[in-house]
Amino acid sequence: MINLELPKKYEFLVSQAHQVATEIFRSNSRKYDQAEHSYPKELDMLAAVIDGMNEGGALSGAGAGTVGGGSSGNGAKADRDGNRNGSNMASLLGLTELCWGDVGLLLTMPRQGLGQAAIAAVANDEQLERFGGKWAAMAITEPEAGSDSAAIRTTAKLDGDEYVLNGEKIFVTSGDRAELIVVWATLDPKQGRAAIKSFVVERDNPGLKLDRLEHKLGIRASDTANFVLTDCRVPKENLLGSPDIAPKGGFSGVMQTFDNTRPLVAGMAVGVSRACLERTRELLSEAGVEIDYDAPPHAQSAAASEFIVMESDWEAARLLTLQAAWMADNKKPNSLQASMAKAKAGRTGTDIALRCVALAGSVGYAEGELLEKWARDVKILDLFEGTQQIQLLIISRLLLGKTSAELK
Ligand SMILES: Cc1cc2nc3c(=O)[nH]c(=O)nc-3n(C[C@H](O)[C@H](O)[C@H](O)COP(=O)(O)OP(=O)(O)OC[C@H]3O[C@@H](n4cnc5c(N)ncnc54)[C@H](O)[C@@H]3O)c2cc1C
Repeated sequence: MINLELPKKYEFLVSQAHQVATEIFRSNSRKYDQAEHSYPKELDMLAAVIDGMNEGGALSGAGAGTVGGGSSGNGAKADRDGNRNGSNMASLLGLTELCWGDVGLLLTMPRQGLGQAAIAAVANDEQLERFGGKWAAMAITEPEAGSDSAAIRTTAKLDGDEYVLNGEKIFVTSGDRAELIVVWATLDPKQGRAAIKSFVVERDNPGLKLDRLEHKLGIRASDTANFVLTDCRVPKENLLGSPDIAPKGGFSGVMQTFDNTRPLVAGMAVGVSRACLERTRELLSEAGVEIDYDAPPHAQSAAASEFIVMESDWEAARLLTLQAAWMADNKKPNSLQASMAKAKAGRTGTDIALRCVALAGSVGYAEGELLEKWARDVKILDLFEGTQQIQLLIISRLLLGKTSAELK
């Protein structure tokens, strides 16, 4: 028998996340959609509560308080069938629930951010001591390097006890609000991927200058910053991982961070699209359209049968996402499943949100409902952490056994 019930130990986490999503996220959703670039101060109190719960172990060391922290199998005990449900699963379940409330607010939660995923994955003990628990953004993208992150031009040169960073970084989520920015730079552009390393830069480093904040289609509560790095000096101990340029394996090690973060982004899409489905069901019901799961498609209204198709698509995305997170907790290689989950949930989330807007008609398109906002917000989840097309490329490479040089 397949048991897809929530593990008991996560019931409290999910119910807490749901309460936060309802009382804090939903109730401030529209406010910060309209007030782009203003900091959602309501989140400060929430972050303090989550910190307290993490310290007290109430969140099992995972979930909402460590969004990017699901990088290890985390020592969770296996059950009698040998299954582990650890920090990846907890983070996924917490995030999904919070994104049912508002994905833009989730993305700007203090002390979250994808930079922590990189820190948790490769930092040594001394670095974990200095950087662990801080709000860390991740700066990979550059004007000439988006999907092809191996093309980055930002350089890092060792000068005495410091690295000197020069370059430009764009579209950095939480770049203005985070305490740390994990910057990807190359030690030697001639040596390609192997020379790319990540460096922790304090946000107030004088060599790191904010160029501008983006105005965006959706997730407007979340700040997206562009930076210029000019002779930005960081202690050499701020390089994450090994400083050696290893021709094989170095870059793929960095890329493995995505095996933990992609299921989380997929979970965000699952959360937003569940919100769309729930609200659409209510609107359909108010309009007198009832959904009958026992009736064949031709024996009920087109709206009801379309709704059922959307729900089954959503369920497929959710199951792939759970599988990818479960594999990470159980230390099973999950690059393929992480990309499959991200591709399926990103596309399905966007499709569902737009179809829900269509089913609700003018009501769905106007500001009186959050449906129009969710349709704008969800699009980013099919874009960052690797676009839809890039996920399909990765899946093809893995299934066909091709290298990135063989299949571009
Ligand atoms: C709101 C927001 C927040 C972001 N946050 C961050 C962040 O915190 N840190 C960070 O580093 N970056 C961040 N990004 C950047 C994001 O990761 C990139 O936008 C993304 O990787 C795509 O890169 P690009 O925009 O340069 O598009 P491009 O790489 O130029 O791609 C353009 C189009 O071509 C397609 N394409 C590209 N290559 C191929 C190929 N080989 N085969 C088929 N199709 C292909 C893409 O799928 C896409 O549809 C953010 C972006 C946004 C919009």
